[in-house]
Amino acid sequence: MRYEGRIFRPPSEARSLIVQVTIGCAHNKCTFCDMYKEKEFRIRKLDEILEDLDLARKKYKNINRIFLADGDALILKTKDLLYILKYINKLFPECERIGIYATPKDILNKGLDELKELKENGIGIIYMGIESGNDEILSMIKKGVDSKTMIEAGKKAKESGIKLSVTLISGLGGKDNIYKHATDSARVINHINPDYVGFLTLMLEENTELYRDYSDGNFNLLSPDEVMLETKLFIENIDVKDSIFRSNHASNYISLKGILNDDKERLLNEIDQALNHNNYRSEGLRGL
Ligand code: SF4
Repeated sequence: MRYEGRIFRPPSEARSLIVQVTIGCAHNKCTFCDMYKEKEFRIRKLDEILEDLDLARKKYKNINRIFLADGDALILKTKDLLYILKYINKLFPECERIGIYATPKDILNKGLDELKELKENGIGIIYMGIESGNDEILSMIKKGVDSKTMIEAGKKAKESGIKLSVTLISGLGGKDNIYKHATDSARVINHINPDYVGFLTLMLEENTELYRDYSDGNFNLLSPDEVMLETKLFIENIDVKDSIFRSNHASNYISLKGILNDDKERLLNEIDQALNHNNYRSEGLRGL
């Protein structure tokens, strides 16, 4: 396969064939994110994408899942995306699911009918980074959208029938905003009721604005106990049905997984246990 630059995909797409339909992220301004800093955003030529799919067909016997990268591949025009999806369906009849990264704006720029057509042609899951449900924090990290827009986009994706996986990042508001970050993030999740919720912990990357803020003393990192308290507050305020919750990324101090609301009590107990015994995974993973 031919790849340009570093490739990112959600953990659940670890076994998927990754195909770049865009290079980089059209937004590329979030202060904590270094994923596509070295790339100038562009949509790849359709011929190149189809050639990559042909190459993959020659190389791999069985492809169950395909993930369309880079950062916000849903930005493609619906007609081009449908062309790619139909090509995939013909070339890989065994493929069960196609996943894609999307920003809230990408989702809102599509009509509900368009999203439904994308679903009918194979898009099975959309991954959207919410990061925080608090408007001040969203503005501080230069996410480019507010919580209302996040909610609208999330609800629209859900309404289309495409599975929705969202991520939030503990510690993104620093020490002063633990309460706001946790409770407003829970509020946004409650409105959307996504199929999957990932709760990561902030890992500072050197080549980012947030890292520079940290080095200049303008941003502080949460201690492991504070991350746990923020996570606890978030879960306490959650009220959803059948959302699969995962906080078991390499960035997380403890591994938490369950279904919300059903497993709320157990998850809160596990957090209390960790707080009482300080049995956290290595702090080295948080990037400092
Ligand atoms: S967090 Fe997402 S939207 Fe923001 S710059 Fe990174 S890839 Fe782009």
